[in-house]
Amino acid sequence: MAKTCTVSDACIGCGMCCSICDAVFALNDEGRAENVLGDIPADLEAGVEEAAANCPVQAIEVK
Ligand code: SF4
Repeated sequence: MAKTCTVSDACIGCGMCCSICDAVFALNDEGRAENVLGDIPADLEAGVEEAAANCPVQAIEVK
């Protein structure tokens, strides 16, 4: 089953995840990151995991 990820309200909009994996994460109008892709293609899973690991407030949940 494809993985997906969500960004919680804890996001402080630092942009780290967007620079690590810009195919999946973008800042929205509220200055918070969101998953713009939905399901994560297998070749982007590593990038999403890396972004989650580097988020300073642990706002990214991969499931
Ligand atoms: S790395 Fe974390 S805090 Fe920074 S924009 Fe992404 S989700 Fe938000």
